[in-house]
Amino acid sequence: MKAGVAWKERTEEKSNKRSIMARRTRRPEATQKIALTPLKKQCEACGQPLGVAYHGHRDVTTLSGQWHLTLVIHQCAQPDCPNYHQRRRPEEEGRWALPHGEFGLEIIALIGQWRFREHRSVPEMHQALQARGISIAQRSVTHLMHRYEELVALRIADHDRIKVRLQKQGHVILALDGLQPDVGPRASSGSSATASPKKSSWPAPGWIP
Ligand SMILES: [Zn+2]
Repeated sequence: MKAGVAWKERTEEKSNKRSIMARRTRRPEATQKIALTPLKKQCEACGQPLGVAYHGHRDVTTLSGQWHLTLVIHQCAQPDCPNYHQRRRPEEEGRWALPHGEFGLEIIALIGQWRFREHRSVPEMHQALQARGISIAQRSVTHLMHRYEELVALRIADHDRIKVRLQKQGHVILALDGLQPDVGPRASSGSSATASPKKSSWPAPGWIP
């Protein structure tokens, strides 16, 4: 593929992103709600308790329906601390969706599985998602398929780096590994370096050292 073509596609994709955000049809109302709070309660720089900066809000479409997330954003309130007013988002947020993504990671995983294991076309995947009651535009399916490809590429690039890190630190929290495409969001699980990750076609791009 010529670079010019790739660039054009990327540009089109960007405008797709914008049109997704400015969708004409309203998103279905969130029927399920959850509040996410950062696990870290103390400032890592000064050790003082972190305070609530504000509450963020976002909606995420998952296989289990429409979720409204209330995000408790923390910050350090010590003026002389190097981390003063640095915002801390809930760690768990990354397990729900990509930054600014409106569809859950499990939907991206499912699309990836359909596409690369079962070689389904975009219209077929679009139809299958709608059959599951997921309100999604066909162009969003294409967009998510590209996100999946990026995540796989990241995973491959990160593989060696993670291995070195694992050996050095002895542990890591795998944010996505082993996530089954068909299940709803679940609590993040710790994984020891010696335990072999569950076999999964789903990449684990999000990991917290
Ligand atoms: Zn501090």
